[in-house]
Amino acid sequence: MHSFMPPDRLLLGPGPSPVPPRVLAALARPTIGHLDPLFIAMMDEVKDLLREAFRTGHALTLPVSAPGSAGMETAFVNLIEPGDTVIVCRNGVFGGRMRENVVRIGAQAVMVDDPFGRPVDPDKVEAALRAHPGAKALAFVHAETSTGVASDARTLCRLAREHGALSIVDAVTSLGGSPLEVDGWGIDAVYSGSQKCLSAPPGLSPVSFSDTAVAAIRARRTPVQSWFLDLTLVMGYWQGSGARAYHHTAPINMLYALHEALLMLREEGLEAAWARHRANHLRLCEGLEALGLTLPVDPAVRLPQLNAVAVPDGVDEAAVRRSLLDRHGIEIGAGLGELAGKIWRIGLMGHGSTPGNVDRVVAAFGDVLGRG
Ligand SMILES: *Cc1c(COP(=O)(O)O)cnc(C)c1O
Repeated sequence: MHSFMPPDRLLLGPGPSPVPPRVLAALARPTIGHLDPLFIAMMDEVKDLLREAFRTGHALTLPVSAPGSAGMETAFVNLIEPGDTVIVCRNGVFGGRMRENVVRIGAQAVMVDDPFGRPVDPDKVEAALRAHPGAKALAFVHAETSTGVASDARTLCRLAREHGALSIVDAVTSLGGSPLEVDGWGIDAVYSGSQKCLSAPPGLSPVSFSDTAVAAIRARRTPVQSWFLDLTLVMGYWQGSGARAYHHTAPINMLYALHEALLMLREEGLEAAWARHRANHLRLCEGLEALGLTLPVDPAVRLPQLNAVAVPDGVDEAAVRRSLLDRHGIEIGAGLGELAGKIWRIGLMGHGSTPGNVDRVVAAFGDVLGRG
């Protein structure tokens, strides 16, 4: 046995994205105590930086100490109680996971299904909200990483509000990569992940809750079923001035990394980052189409940070991914769920979204498919 030395890979899949050297350097700094006053001051900066990235003033904004799936679970277990009704939109794999969360709480999930590869249909959502006037929340995925489709979060949140339901939004892949306006769109609960467009390593899930959502948590009839994710307890560590109660040991070095990644995003500017993701996405579409490949998602709803590419007839989907990895050191993603074997997923997330990386992956596809 000896130390593990990872190979050189270009991560152009659905996450993790390439972590820049500056963030890796932050990760390697000396570990200090999680109650050290200087660490707590850094935590306050992380919260401020997250509020900037989410475009929100929500007081309850923090990174959950676990990956994006834990952010999802945090939103559901804190806001939903047994017996509640939740409208869940499913147009990809992650909407199905939202349903799992609701069902395991003992609440009722009313599904609004749209085909994989299409956005959530606001008309169907409105009909579901009408049919279930007591619904506690509307839950949907803003950027469906399994299909490469963006849904209209602004409209969906407005519908939720008009029907007295909280909005729960999965922004794991959208945060930092495409427009997301938590306050502007009136989002009540949003969660993300550190390893997609923020380009930190996986392991943290930024979340943010509106005052309305916090009031709903405080008004619960039952205790939150998860001790670890119970925000009323977690807040004791992440909030309040002076003395902070120990809840769990924060992943200290990971928080250095997230702090650095968020600083880099701030230096670039959020809108500049959105524009960069869009420009490199267009460059990728052009390059792939020049190779005769097709992108099945309607251009109006394509995600710039996650590009679905149709596998041509007669081409071995997995063999192409394998050759990209073995011959070119490039990782891309396979299709998930009903799209398995039908699409590849090319991520241009965070630090991975550069013209040079686009040209590299297009050239590699040309080589592997013999179409260069
Ligand atoms: C990646 C992802 C998740 C899950 O995040 P993990 O960090 O893998 O737990 C949830 N939702 C969406 C849309 C994602 O892309």
